[in-house]
Amino acid sequence: MSSPATSDERELALAAVERAARLCRAVQAERGDSLTLSKEDRSPVTVADYGAQAIVSLTLGDGGFGLPIVGEERAAALRTEAGAPLRSQVVEHVQRILPNATEARVLEAIDACRDAGGASGRRWVLDPIDGTKGYLRGGQYAVALALLENGIPVLGVLGCPALEASEGGRGLLFFAARGEGAEERAFGGDAAPRPIRTDELDDPRRAVFCESVEAAHSAHERSERIASRLGVEAEPLRIDSQCKYAVLARGDASIYLRLPRTGDYREKIWDHAAGWIVLNEAGGRITDAEGRPLDFTLGRTLDRNRGIVATNGPLHDVVMEAVLATAAEPAA
Ligand code: AMP
Ligand code: MG
Repeated sequence: MSSPATSDERELALAAVERAARLCRAVQAERGDSLTLSKEDRSPVTVADYGAQAIVSLTLGDGGFGLPIVGEERAAALRTEAGAPLRSQVVEHVQRILPNATEARVLEAIDACRDAGGASGRRWVLDPIDGTKGYLRGGQYAVALALLENGIPVLGVLGCPALEASEGGRGLLFFAARGEGAEERAFGGDAAPRPIRTDELDDPRRAVFCESVEAAHSAHERSERIASRLGVEAEPLRIDSQCKYAVLARGDASIYLRLPRTGDYREKIWDHAAGWIVLNEAGGRITDAEGRPLDFTLGRTLDRNRGIVATNGPLHDVVMEAVLATAAEPAA
């Protein structure tokens, strides 16, 4: 079978995410994250969201593959007068890593990530900081990059700078390519990558389940009912960002529930593509909250899906049963 991604693409993807993660840490260490703007949906965007998108875009662009990028951010607000303080911080942080990047190139690189997604062709999908609220709180966040081929993730990198490594220290980089399994490595270290697998738990009572910290992103009261149906004993593990997929992939939890609060929210492809392949390749299973496979072919959103149910694999059917049973119950 031909490889889904060339070795150059793999190296480039890993380098791009590691550089972006370095930028996020530097901004946070210098409290540059206190400079934020508010997006149209009123969610915050920081120096690091813009800087990370610019770094990844410039790194992938310089690789010469010319693939389109679907990225979350736009530079429009940075080009305004009100955005000037943020703009200069973004440019300064990018230049520390890529000294030749001019202001114009940085803004262009951010705006270059405007691909609309779709069912055919190859494209990168990027969330420069997934879990910006977690980042601002000093919690978990992830730089998430996936390569999609005809709407199917074939390569994924998750940079989780605040996730604790088993050997101590913070920062884990997760990598997966289709058909090849998933692995993790310590940040910035020379340690060899370590293959990872989900746990083999098939008794839901002993399962740890993850969900968003933000109650607006997942219905916590419904997950509580699902957990009680399943006899889950542990308290929910609330973590921001796609770190939840990574935590399942390394066997530290067995269930991830993301239950829609309103019928009209559409999940974004950049919030799931990299996590999807990392967990899939580690042995996990992922569907939406109605049991359908995720469909990444429909543009920038998962238009045909509602919510997410991800598991270690063996628990999927029994968890899905409880999820469907609670869909019929009136909300508490
Ligand atoms: P998490 O950290 O897992 O809660 O997910 C963070 C992501 O949730 C952000 O990147 C947003 O794109 C996404 N998000 C924003 N609003 C909603 C919503 N109403 N329901 C689900 N996800 C959302
Ligand atoms: Mg996100």
